[in-house]
Amino acid sequence: MNKLKLIEWDKKYIWHPFTQMKLWLEEEPTIFIEGKDCFLKDIDGKWYLDGVSSLWVNIHGHRRPEIDEALKAQIDKIAHSTLLGASNETSIILAKKLGDLLSKKLPWGEPLTKIFYSDNGSTAVEIAMKIAYQFWLNQGIKDKDTFISLKEGYHGDTIGAVSVGGIELFHQIYKPLLNKSIQAPAPYCYRCELNLNYPSCRLACLSEMEKILTQNHERIIAVIVEPIVQCAGGIIVWPQDYLKGLRKLCNKYNILLIADEVATGFGRTGKMFACEHEKVTPDIICLSKGITNGYLPLAVTVTNEKIFNAFLGELEERKTFYHGHSYTGNPLACAAAIANLEIFEKDKTVEKLSKKIELLRKKLKEISKLNHVGEIRQKGMIAGIEIVKDKLTKETFPYKEQTGWKIVKSARKYGVWLRPLGDIIVIMPPLVISEKNLERLLDVIKLCIIEITS
Ligand SMILES: *Cc1c(COP(=O)(O)O)cnc(C)c1O
Repeated sequence: MNKLKLIEWDKKYIWHPFTQMKLWLEEEPTIFIEGKDCFLKDIDGKWYLDGVSSLWVNIHGHRRPEIDEALKAQIDKIAHSTLLGASNETSIILAKKLGDLLSKKLPWGEPLTKIFYSDNGSTAVEIAMKIAYQFWLNQGIKDKDTFISLKEGYHGDTIGAVSVGGIELFHQIYKPLLNKSIQAPAPYCYRCELNLNYPSCRLACLSEMEKILTQNHERIIAVIVEPIVQCAGGIIVWPQDYLKGLRKLCNKYNILLIADEVATGFGRTGKMFACEHEKVTPDIICLSKGITNGYLPLAVTVTNEKIFNAFLGELEERKTFYHGHSYTGNPLACAAAIANLEIFEKDKTVEKLSKKIELLRKKLKEISKLNHVGEIRQKGMIAGIEIVKDKLTKETFPYKEQTGWKIVKSARKYGVWLRPLGDIIVIMPPLVISEKNLERLLDVIKLCIIEITS
């Protein structure tokens, strides 16, 4: 297809997400037309290393033959049928696989085995919130109407998910539309406002959380968090034992814990699920991004039997979970997810990450010495590089300078594709990335930080 035509139509017809369209309309967009392994090809034929997994969804590379084959086979049977009043083969098989996997990986509490399907991370969170609310209501507990979430948290862009979001730039505008929630401080130790009077950021944040719980626990439905790494908030890696502490507080005050592992799930942090790092089993887990290797939109909200059982009753008791989507349990998406999970088993993807995680650590250490690198945060194969104007005072560059953007734009010249979070350079490559390509990714990032900040 003609490039100039495509650009014209893009500008005429597409409203891009999270994008100031005035700026977009002034620039020439990159248009991708092909992918292979960890690379993306644009319409000019230039290849880029996909440093952020096509927005955190790709795990095993683009055009994985196993997933391509599974989809072709499924297309020859059926593309879509419904889970409303019927079931379908692939969604049953996937549910069994996910239930088994979650019970095996997170064995420290009630096993997570009840799979509710939807098609994106935000919706998985909405479902978790509605289930949590109704779980109490179905037991006759009526005064619970508030969630606790964390500052710098991100759970998606639908209204419920925004209600528990804590990123001021994204969420402040919509405040008049939102549901009730209380924000607790995030254990963002590099910029922790609390730890002045405490021995550590972790203790300060947990103590603040307990204060909120003591005062409000009767109206709290659940605590919702992105366990271990708050990704969209700036790759905020929690201090050790914060999640464990949170689980203890939820138990003490009889509050549900919702783990939004939409970004951290499926191996990114060096374990299949981030909660494994601290031996925590949440009451509800949300999974999406990596679930189909970026092939098709799919998400699941998974609960334990205790929560599920609270929804059982006679019709007139109205304990039914009144929720569903047109594409719930889409057979094609489920087929991609099954093939994706089979690759994890066959290739031992997560078990084999340790060398790459160490290499990433080593390369990040070099970068941490640069003048304008304030902090480096890494968990497994996720990393964030916080760029600052002044390393000593942690002063940031002015927002309108767009330093992060300049760095990632410069990386394009060297064939590396990235997307920053403000002035935090995000590194989240497909887990299959080779050591050679991982080194190249980090070398280019280092070069571009130097180029833009000095
Ligand atoms: C991306 C993300 C979401 C939202 O998922 P979408 O599929 O973009 O709606 C929710 N929670 C977390 C932690 C995410 O990273």
